[in-house]
Amino acid sequence: MSNTIGIQIGPDSFVDEGTEKVLDILQKQGAVNTLYLSTFTYDRGITGRQPANATLPGHGLSESPERFFHGGNFATPHAQFYKNTAIKGDQLKAPDFGKLDILQEVLPAAKKRGLKVVCSIQDGFVYPDDMPFVKDFAEVDLQGRKGGAMCFYQPNVREFWKAVAADLCSSYDIDGVLLFNERNGPLLNAIGVSHAQGIDSAKVTCFCAEHQRAAKEAGIDFERAKEGYRKLNEYVQNSLAAKRPSDGYYVEFARLLQTYPEIMAYNQLFDAGKTRVLKEVYQTAKGIRKNLEVGFHIEHTNSFNPLYRASRRYEELAEIADFLKVVVYNNCGGERYRNFILNISSTVFRDVPPAELMGINNHLLNYANEAPIDDLPKAGLSADYVMRETQRAKAGVNGKSRILPGIDINIPTGRNSRKASPEDTYAATMAAFKGGADGVILSRKYSEMYLANLEAAGKAVRDAAKA
Ligand SMILES: [Zn+2]
Repeated sequence: MSNTIGIQIGPDSFVDEGTEKVLDILQKQGAVNTLYLSTFTYDRGITGRQPANATLPGHGLSESPERFFHGGNFATPHAQFYKNTAIKGDQLKAPDFGKLDILQEVLPAAKKRGLKVVCSIQDGFVYPDDMPFVKDFAEVDLQGRKGGAMCFYQPNVREFWKAVAADLCSSYDIDGVLLFNERNGPLLNAIGVSHAQGIDSAKVTCFCAEHQRAAKEAGIDFERAKEGYRKLNEYVQNSLAAKRPSDGYYVEFARLLQTYPEIMAYNQLFDAGKTRVLKEVYQTAKGIRKNLEVGFHIEHTNSFNPLYRASRRYEELAEIADFLKVVVYNNCGGERYRNFILNISSTVFRDVPPAELMGINNHLLNYANEAPIDDLPKAGLSADYVMRETQRAKAGVNGKSRILPGIDINIPTGRNSRKASPEDTYAATMAAFKGGADGVILSRKYSEMYLANLEAAGKAVRDAAKA
């Protein structure tokens, strides 16, 4: 199979710039052969115009108050696929572009050019309060409050994700689906594993009745798990308030895990639920057409966090995926990695100065010569980082799945943080191939990419093919 040169793109780009014109640019400048078309999403991360106050990247349009992004299913949902779930998927047609069915618009034009079309499906609801279906099957946090995400252990939710995939795979001649799901388990959330969020350890999920049932089946004492998370919450709150345990922050954390092994077990239960949803989507698609490609987006935390890394295996994911889109975003990676280090050094590793902690973490993660912590946002992560993470993923899947690193092209960063340049984009794309990648996915979305950077990625793709 030849290399996949993919790009993530939202329906707005085709609407705003013209389908043929956009496809011309992608093929000629970006050497693209596969569209990862944001088809079911409520998240502006992979679709949507540039914010009203942002500079346009030389193409596309800005948001305006009259054209604010809503999201949903940008194809045409068909009621017969949603019979096994109480979530009325046929009513989730995205209202943004009226009756337009983005697959009807893009598929014939793409096929004529020999381009593949893979539908991106994203589990993530930016405005859950406006969405009764999310609330009906929402996760429940430690204090009994409903959250903004749908629980993996709710049978209606599992059926819903299968239905979304089945509808797209049956109703259209697409080439596959790419699933986005960046949600984490309660242990990792409690201690602030992520680069992208603050720490709210009382808000960890999920303690709904279905989860309780799943815990029982898995032989986990639900009440003990809950008690463990309450203690963990106290520990985190004290840490954030700099109330140092007499034995130190790390020892107290280790003691909690030993006293309540249910904390770890319950976190694994969350991951198992998430993986099962991925597996069911994979099986659904394969049951419809064997040659459909199914892949998963592997989020940035997987790169930064040793504990997260330990919570899953590339090889196991490879068994339920034809390809993995591994996030190796290097420009925004600088500020994100710094945020991650600051998060963990406000709780478990509070006794270690952040700069030293980052040095140790670099060793654990096999990062080489990255900038010191305070320079990271401005410096970004290196092309070498892209290569190392690609190599790790390739070794991890052991030939069972293709590895398509996600290349950072103009992912938004803070005012003084690293911005993508053509040189960076070229170097990062080349580094992915040097690491053994089976292709790349230019990320996060075409509407935010400067064409000079897209062209640099295309040049790297062509140069790598010659080498
Ligand atoms: Zn639940």
